[in-house]
Amino acid sequence: MVEPTPLVLVIEDDPPIRQFLRISLQAQSYRYIEAETARAGLLAATTQSPEVIILDLGLPDMDGVDLVRQIRSWSTMPVIVISARGKEQDKIIALDAGADDYLTKPFGIGELTARLRAALRRRASQSDTGEPIFVVGALRVDRATRSVSINQRPLHLTPNEYRLLAILVDHAGKVLTHRQLLKEVWGPQATEETHYLRVYINQLRQKLEAQPAQPRYLLTEPGVGYRLAVE
Ligand code: CA
Repeated sequence: MVEPTPLVLVIEDDPPIRQFLRISLQAQSYRYIEAETARAGLLAATTQSPEVIILDLGLPDMDGVDLVRQIRSWSTMPVIVISARGKEQDKIIALDAGADDYLTKPFGIGELTARLRAALRRRASQSDTGEPIFVVGALRVDRATRSVSINQRPLHLTPNEYRLLAILVDHAGKVLTHRQLLKEVWGPQATEETHYLRVYINQLRQKLEAQPAQPRYLLTEPGVGYRLAVE
């Protein structure tokens, strides 16, 4: 029997963008439903059980960030926000509110489907029973033994380096904001200390990356945060 393809709910008030998403997603065999307002989107999210939501932050009847918070109050379904270029602060607020990822307008079909695949993979891995070993490329992280290796060569990480990497592994493929990472590693009083992160990301890259200046694993999301590669 053929597995049904994932159902994507698009909440976007701009008709040309909806049309682009509808054509693109249907061409990739995703099932597609859409809503033009936050109110209609919330109704569709609760009644149609989409596997992933693509949400425009600028909606006529509600701020998209408030909609993210509402969805997060009852669901862990992946939410990918879309917003205009140059609105880094909006993306950060949406991610801190519980969105999984973001796309910057204008975006291409390749970027869209890569984000969707990553979100759906995370959703699937959340539901299986805690696979402790994460592998991407030559990087292997064993959460059970807290061991990290590159090309089977063990790496010696400091406790904070390991915690930072482990959080990125737990959310592999998802962008984490500076605030989220600082809170998880150094605690809620440290959420403004972005220089800690720069220092530790740099240290981790020196240990993990073949070319630290052109990272393969620890990716920078400019102005927003960091993401661990999954492909
Ligand atoms: Ca809009």
